[in-house]
Amino acid sequence: MASFKPSIPSGEVHVIMGPMFAGKTTALLRRIKSEGANGRNVAMIKSSKDNRYAVDSVVTHDGAKFPCWALPDLSSFRQNFGGDAYDKLDVIGIDEAQFFEDLYDFCCTAADHDGKTVIVAGLDGDYLRRSFGSVLDVVPLADTVTKLTARCEMCGKRAFFTLRKTEETKTELIGGADVYMPVCRQHYVNGQVLIKAARSVVESHKSKSGTFSEAAPVI
Ligand SMILES: [Zn+2]
Repeated sequence: MASFKPSIPSGEVHVIMGPMFAGKTTALLRRIKSEGANGRNVAMIKSSKDNRYAVDSVVTHDGAKFPCWALPDLSSFRQNFGGDAYDKLDVIGIDEAQFFEDLYDFCCTAADHDGKTVIVAGLDGDYLRRSFGSVLDVVPLADTVTKLTARCEMCGKRAFFTLRKTEETKTELIGGADVYMPVCRQHYVNGQVLIKAARSVVESHKSKSGTFSEAAPVI
């Protein structure tokens, strides 16, 4: 007869995604706090790449705080947190999940094998509306998926996308309202046209003056 391990409660994966300023971190914090208030052991993880507000706490755009582990990857969480402490954990929140390359494997192990409830919050798309990191990869693993919306900064309608206001073209550019704004579809498209126009002015200025040294960015 095969011997059976003691049964581990079934885990769950929940994904909260959307553009910047959609309240993803707020929704995650609310969920984690409510799980904690119900007597479950909770932990929060965020990427150590994002140190906009604080290293050891998750902070929403409106200032709410919660202690967390800032890590470069998720595979190091168990070791950092401690094996015994990890075994006692019920719920793990992951903020800014787009920065974790090992998100899929972590969610699989934590939910399928370790019986954890994992709540993932992150950007579904980057400023070019392309899939950002591994957030979309964990959708097939998820019990629930929630796409939150923000308010378009131009017209106040529902915003689904994040527009980058600067000319920087690398995908990972950490910033807040100084760099990004939430926009509706119409203003995303208009905004891209405006940014391209502004860039071509800069490009022509650049070729005249020769004071800029970086290569011409491409959107
Ligand atoms: Zn709009």
